[in-house]
Amino acid sequence: MSDEHLFISDCHLDAGRPEITRALVEFLQTRAREARYLYILGDLFEVWLGDDDPADDHNTVIESLRHLADSCKVFFIAGNRDFLLGEKFAYKVGMILLEEPLILQLDQSRVVLIHGDSLCSDDHDYQVFRAMVRNPEWKSGFLARPLQERRKIAAQLRDDSARAMHQKSGEIMDVNAIAVADCFDENNADVIIHGHTHRPAVHRNDASLQRIVLGDWNPGPSYLSWSRASGFKLTDARV
Ligand code: MN
Repeated sequence: MSDEHLFISDCHLDAGRPEITRALVEFLQTRAREARYLYILGDLFEVWLGDDDPADDHNTVIESLRHLADSCKVFFIAGNRDFLLGEKFAYKVGMILLEEPLILQLDQSRVVLIHGDSLCSDDHDYQVFRAMVRNPEWKSGFLARPLQERRKIAAQLRDDSARAMHQKSGEIMDVNAIAVADCFDENNADVIIHGHTHRPAVHRNDASLQRIVLGDWNPGPSYLSWSRASGFKLTDARV
């Protein structure tokens, strides 16, 4: 049996970009079926307002995930876009919902999996916002509102964030070196795997530490694989 682990993130699925949905469905129906485990490290959806949203735009992905779960264990860690994805939806598609940081032991390497937004500590406004919306009380209060109202609030938040991002430099929106060093230390990790920044790369912090950044799917499929025989391999047209 395959021991392959696959890692993806940042598909940002949205009805406005059907080509990404098609690429992901194709991936779930073909490449992912060779693997034993699939880890989705957040921002699978561009927006997720609660599991009571019918999410009809995502039917093909839901169907493909459900089908894949028969042969491959699928894990999900939330991103900053889909942190309201809950147990109900996860159960429906056969995914196991996990909290970050998730620690994996792959042979000799201790690997930490996170979405990546927590590493962008130079973006103070965003970190304040993150602390607010990740608070369980805020989440349950928001989810108790009618769906229509949630849609309105989310659209407003997106506008605000788009305006703010326009004014922020690329450096502010990338990871902070100290936050990365702390993440290695606190988790006693050899490898960090994350997405969020849409800057796919394999960074070697020193001889033994690696930070692997998953890409978004805007220019096409982007995924990381690991198997005992081949180690890590990042597949992305930009790398
Ligand atoms: Mn993100």
